[in-house]
Amino acid sequence: MAARPMPYLDELNPAQLEAVEQMDGPVLMLAGAGTGKTKALTARIVHLLNKGRARPNEILAVTFTNKAAREMKNRVGHMLGGSIEGVPWLGTFHAICVKLLRRHAELVDLKSNFTILDTDDQIRLLKQLIRANNIDDKRWPARLLASLIDGWKNKALTPDKLPAADAGAFNHRGGELYDQYQRRLRELNAVDFGDLLLHVVTIFQKHPDILKQYQRWFKYILVDEYQDTNVAQYMWLRLLAGGHKNICCVGDDDQSIYGWRGAEVGNILRFEKDFPGAYVVRLEQNYRSTPHILAAASNVIKGNSDRLGKELWTDETDGEKVRLIGHWDGEEEARWIGEEIEAMQGGTRGMAPMSLDHMAILVRASHQMRAFEDRFLTIGLPYRVIGGPRFYERLEIRDTMAYFRVVVSPDDDLAFERIVNTPKRGLGNVAQQKIQTCARANGVSLIEGARILLEEKGLGGKGAKELALLVDGLARWREKLIGPRIVVEDDAVLDDGAAPIVSRGDPELSHIELAEVILDESGYTTMWQNDKTPEGPGRLENLKELVKALENFENLQGFLEHVSLIMDNESDDAEAKVTIMTLHGAKGLEFPAVFLPGWEEGLFPSQRSMDESGLKGLEEERRLAYVGITRAEELCTISFAGNRLVYGQWQSQMPSRFIDELPEEHVEVLTPPGLYGGGFGAAASVGKSSLDDRVASANTYNSPGWKRMQSRAGQYGASQPKESRAPVIDMTAVSSFTVGDRVFHQKFGYGSVLEIEGDKLGVDFDKAGLKKVVSSFVTSSDD
Ligand code: ATP
Ligand code: MG
Repeated sequence: MAARPMPYLDELNPAQLEAVEQMDGPVLMLAGAGTGKTKALTARIVHLLNKGRARPNEILAVTFTNKAAREMKNRVGHMLGGSIEGVPWLGTFHAICVKLLRRHAELVDLKSNFTILDTDDQIRLLKQLIRANNIDDKRWPARLLASLIDGWKNKALTPDKLPAADAGAFNHRGGELYDQYQRRLRELNAVDFGDLLLHVVTIFQKHPDILKQYQRWFKYILVDEYQDTNVAQYMWLRLLAGGHKNICCVGDDDQSIYGWRGAEVGNILRFEKDFPGAYVVRLEQNYRSTPHILAAASNVIKGNSDRLGKELWTDETDGEKVRLIGHWDGEEEARWIGEEIEAMQGGTRGMAPMSLDHMAILVRASHQMRAFEDRFLTIGLPYRVIGGPRFYERLEIRDTMAYFRVVVSPDDDLAFERIVNTPKRGLGNVAQQKIQTCARANGVSLIEGARILLEEKGLGGKGAKELALLVDGLARWREKLIGPRIVVEDDAVLDDGAAPIVSRGDPELSHIELAEVILDESGYTTMWQNDKTPEGPGRLENLKELVKALENFENLQGFLEHVSLIMDNESDDAEAKVTIMTLHGAKGLEFPAVFLPGWEEGLFPSQRSMDESGLKGLEEERRLAYVGITRAEELCTISFAGNRLVYGQWQSQMPSRFIDELPEEHVEVLTPPGLYGGGFGAAASVGKSSLDDRVASANTYNSPGWKRMQSRAGQYGASQPKESRAPVIDMTAVSSFTVGDRVFHQKFGYGSVLEIEGDKLGVDFDKAGLKKVVSSFVTSSDD
């Protein structure tokens, strides 16, 4: 066969080319952010196909997110000029494992139509188990057990392999409960996320013949973001790569940010030991970011001790410095960023107009998103939230999905529990208990149990009638799903104890029509039509949107699978939108303009990760800062606020230590808008000494957080605070209130001081009435 032209190779530098052309044997590409690892990996897939080394379905390629998988699929398709259908085994670990597990479910005592539970179901199930074991679930919460079990699964520890120390966790019952949980999942024909990998590893370990088939089948294995694989994923890869040993992993130790979820950066360091003779490629040229952005990122990550150490360079010369700005509070930060985005979009920032699609706000914690969402809704700025509270997590969506789940998989008791009395059918706790008992006594699913209970007349009144309607409905919908039953041969002939052989006619309804039938006949739509709360109409809208989403899938099962696997709720519509997402979710992505808000101690680095993992936790946070900065191509804006509302409480904040690690020569400090009473346009950079200026800002905002920042700045030899220039509100020192003072409070507004008690003030607020407030949250006012 004549070689096809290979223009994709022309786009690579010599080091990338090496990684692509070294097709046989293990290859490790270890390189910093934006050096084209993913690009080279993608080109490698294309090259393997082009050179006839493998057919599309003989390549196994693992990405970290579904979004990354989609992008890689598109790029491969594009590079091949649309000449192949696609690479079917390109996806996340989870997506690939679902496919494998459906094929071999029976080997781990599941049926191939098993359900994938989400966290909510998982917690509910664990709670039931904890209570059934007479353990107080207030002292021993289900969430704790869930996270222990996830941790074990990430380490590929099945209950029988659990070390004694782990089994003794959770009030000495951890191991036992884990075992019960796994049994219960099997009864429910369900798996949780961790099981997807664990079951497949188990199958490979217990059935060498099956493993061998796949080892032979997958001629080439490719893994992106290798630094974030956990032990189970690592075992899975090693098992599969054991045959041809054609495995190519790419990663960056500086971007390992999933340690808290069991990722082991050691995997990357072990690669050469595990795969002797591995060909190691290093890339150093960064093609993504301007020199200032790169320098800022490199300087921050330098603070970590535990790293391989890589130098990055770029041949770009121009570009703006990283911008740093402090704000009074989180709302102000959101307002300013909103204005910036509008200015950039409109081209009034001195740059060419930029599409909203090219801008992203990357937050450390999802609670930070709300301020942006609220602000953007107010000013009508289109945005998308990726990985936040998702569409599919809404109540009405989860209910509907539960209906779909029971229809697709009648053994799914958790889904049945969710819908049995939703809408209200007069089937309260007592009735549900009866169904449970009957099911357990007969060793069948809850639906079966319900049917038996009805037959035996174990339930009376309205409940019985309603339950009968539901059970009949479920059977009818299922028949519509799988097609009408057609008995191929006489039942009597086949009645030898084996399952009767039946065939199914074509379903008379499409899955979309079926979804509508289910929603109508179950009374679920009516329930929300009758709902008089303000949310009612929105919920009906969401149901419509859900049915619309079904159009993209061949059947209900495919849809359910998709929903359990997706990590984002991107809508595909054409309108340009600003992206709001977490730093964790942004791995591997790039945007021309990136905003990094909330760089404050306790928020970023997160207090929790430092408390839980000490220096290791801090280093992981620093890697996250590195990931954040390196997402930016042209413009990176870091911000912090002096006060923040966290879970309903105002907290005064101190700028992040990572801000101190930014190299001053690559940073431009912007002046908060309040200082000059104008927006960004009025505020200029205030000279070279950034720390000095931060101190000036600190003086303006005289809260304790800002005061702490002053002393921090002092450590760097910064000069004493300048006079504040034109503060928005005149801040008065904490201790200087006297009874009768007029004050202003962020939440309660204006009021008069009635009494002073240590650092607390009793204030009679004009609107909010009498309140006790901490004096540092109040400012004096001359209104
Ligand atoms: P990360 O570590 O963040 O995942 P990465 O190493 O995977 O980064 P890519 O996303 O593959 O980097 O590439 C970063 C950017 O540089 C992309 O826009 C890519 O198209 C571009 N790029 C990569 N290699 C080259 C090259 N040889 N010539 C020009 N542009 C390149
Ligand atoms: Mg990448």
